[in-house]
Amino acid sequence: MGIQSFPAIIIGGGIGGISCAIELQYNAIEHLLLDDQDRLGGQLPLIKTKIRNLGGLYFIDGPTLQGQINEYVQAQGIRFKANTRVRSCDLYEKTVETDTGLYRGDSLVIATGARVRLLEVECDPGLEEQIVYFTEKREADFAQQNVLLIGGGDYASITALDLSKHGANVTLLHRRDKFTARPDLLSLVESTPNIKTITNKQVIAVRGDHNIRSVEIVDAITGEKTDLAADAIVVKMGCAPNSEIFSGQLPLTEDGYIEVNANLETAIPGIFAIGDVTAFRHLRLSTALGQGAAAALSALRYLRQRYQHAGG
Ligand SMILES: Cc1cc2nc3c(=O)[nH]c(=O)nc-3n(C[C@H](O)[C@H](O)[C@H](O)COP(=O)(O)OP(=O)(O)OC[C@H]3O[C@@H](n4cnc5c(N)ncnc54)[C@H](O)[C@@H]3O)c2cc1C
Repeated sequence: MGIQSFPAIIIGGGIGGISCAIELQYNAIEHLLLDDQDRLGGQLPLIKTKIRNLGGLYFIDGPTLQGQINEYVQAQGIRFKANTRVRSCDLYEKTVETDTGLYRGDSLVIATGARVRLLEVECDPGLEEQIVYFTEKREADFAQQNVLLIGGGDYASITALDLSKHGANVTLLHRRDKFTARPDLLSLVESTPNIKTITNKQVIAVRGDHNIRSVEIVDAITGEKTDLAADAIVVKMGCAPNSEIFSGQLPLTEDGYIEVNANLETAIPGIFAIGDVTAFRHLRLSTALGQGAAAALSALRYLRQRYQHAGG
C-alpha cells in the first residue's frame, strides 16, 4: 500500500475537525480530514434541541447546523474522506492507517471527540436496546413511568427535573456518596416530590421479560445486593473520550482525555488535539470550533518553522 503525504492530517470530522480544516484551507495549507461516519458533523445529529450557545448564532437543532456545515465544506472544496476509520497511528512518525489507505502528515490534529458512556451490565435478552441515553424531545414518553435515572452530574439532575415535570416518577441513582451536580440543581431535585435520590449504589443487572421490570443493585459500602423496580432506565453517566488509538503514545488524563497546552499542542511536536477529546473537557460546540481554528494556526506556525529549518 502506497503512502500519501499531506502537510496536515485531521483525524475526526466533528465541528472541531471541520473548523480546523476550514482554517487550513483559508491559509492555503493542503490537508486531509478523515472521519469514520458517513457524514461530517460528529455529535451534531444527536442534538435534538435548539442550539443557543454558539456565539450568538442560532440553529433549530444539530442536524440543521450539520446540513449547513456540510454544504459549506463541499462548496469550499475541503478535502475529506468520510466512512474512514483511523485504526492505528504512529504519532512519532506521524503516520495513520485506515482500512483503505496509509497517510503521513507533517502535522496531525486529533479531533476524535467523545461518546456517551454506556451502561455495561448484564441485561436479560432484548433489554439492552431499551436503555435510553437521550431523552430530549421525548420526555412525555416517560409520563407515569417509574424511571431509574443513573448519574450524578448536572445532566443527570437536569434530566430528572425535565422528566419529573412530564409526570415521571424518577429515582436518581448515583454510585458515589455525593452527587456532583451544581448545588442549585441539587436543591431543586431534592425539593421535587416525584424525584427520589439514592447514593452509594451501582446497577449490576437489568431484569425483565420483554420489557424492563427491575434492576439489581449493589451497595458500594456493604456489598449487599437488592432489586429495584423500574419501567424505564435512563443513563446520564457523562462521556468517554475517543482516545484509545493514541494511548501509550501521548500523556492522557486518568480517564483518557488528551493533555494539551494553550496552543493545543500535545507532548509530541507537530501533534495537536482539540475539542471534546482534550483534557479541557469543555464539551461545547463553541470551544471545539475555536480550538479547531486555533490548532490550525498553531500547525501553520509549526510547519513554517519546520520547512524553514529543512530549507536551511
Ligand atoms: C445530545 C447532545 C446535545 C448537545 N448539545 C449541545 C449544545 O446545545 N451546545 C453545545 O455547545 N454543545 C452541545 N453538545 C456537545 C457538542 O456536541 C460537542 O461538544 C461537540 O460536538 C464536540 O465536537 P468535536 O469536534 O470535539 O467532537 P465530535 O463531535 O465528537 O466529533 C468527533 C468525530 O471524530 C470521529 N472519530 C472518532 N474516532 C475516530 C477514528 N479513529 N477515525 C476516524 N474518525 C473518528 C467521530 O466519529 C466523530 O465523527 C451536545 C452533545 C450531545 C451528545
